[in-house]
Amino acid sequence: MARVGREAMIFERIATGGCQSYLLGCGETRAAILIDPNLEQIDHYPVLAARHGLRIRYVLDTHTHADHFSAARELGQRWNARVVTHRLSPAPYAELFLDDGDKLQVGGIALQALHTPGHTRDSMCLVAEDRIFTGDTLLIGGAGRTDLPTGDAEALHDSLFNRVLKLDPALKVHPAHDYNGRGHSTLGEEIATNPRLQKRDRASFVAMMRTLNLEAPVHLTEALRTNMHGGKPLAQLLSDAAARIAFVSAAELAAAGDFVLLDVRERDAFAAGHIPGARHLPRGELEFLADRHLPDPCRRILVYCETGDISILAAATLAELGFTRAASLTGGLAAWREQGLPVSSL
Ligand code: FE
Repeated sequence: MARVGREAMIFERIATGGCQSYLLGCGETRAAILIDPNLEQIDHYPVLAARHGLRIRYVLDTHTHADHFSAARELGQRWNARVVTHRLSPAPYAELFLDDGDKLQVGGIALQALHTPGHTRDSMCLVAEDRIFTGDTLLIGGAGRTDLPTGDAEALHDSLFNRVLKLDPALKVHPAHDYNGRGHSTLGEEIATNPRLQKRDRASFVAMMRTLNLEAPVHLTEALRTNMHGGKPLAQLLSDAAARIAFVSAAELAAAGDFVLLDVRERDAFAAGHIPGARHLPRGELEFLADRHLPDPCRRILVYCETGDISILAAATLAELGFTRAASLTGGLAAWREQGLPVSSL
């Protein structure tokens, strides 16, 4: 396929905190790939693709991320795009698995995969024209940590010194993280200045990587269960549930109040203080006792908990059961108390 000139390549870097995603499109065919999408930006990417008139063909994760939630599955479904990972990735939603050396054709742009284990065993870099997407194998002024699941400092040494750093030094480096907002660099600049690349012999490099003593990422387990097993992070569970129900404020409840009011907290909490007139049905027993406590599925049901999160899940469960007018009290009993509204106890 003909090589596309640089002017015909559409390129966007999308930063989310220290995480970076990249949108790469072919100016001639409008085919595009999204690299390392972050769930926090899930509504941003389609806007960006539309602005450039791009059709996303591939959504790619450079490796199993341990610090943020990949949006690859959701966007793959939304765009009918192929979800691409290295063949060692455990992600159950991946559909196209690359081996070392495989090429992905995005319109007129070819991306070549380089298997670069070390940060994780499924890490890969992608070379496209004048640039390389390095995932967390090589960062600007750093290198991916090797102390998280499937990390391997010796493998990282091989991947860096025997593979990535032997490529054209003029290649622009686009990593999956950039904590200092430096944007991009080149392989040549990294070789010259990156502190992690100055210990070139394997033993000292490995010793350095093993003594970094980095803190674990904040959402490690949540990210791994999401990215490795296709589970949902808590915020997504809550927002999916919130999209299915209505919300009512404490002031509205106090003013109107034609609701079956349902307290879904535990028994002790209910006994200690609840909104007058509320019925008690703990969330754990909701599916089992809903029919007995809520005989009319057409009534408005207002669910509350202590802070307004658990009640979102409970109201969504009721909606799923067919209580389609279930709503959640915003801010829960805490918001009710804050407004000085009355509380009863048993
Ligand atoms: Fe990573």
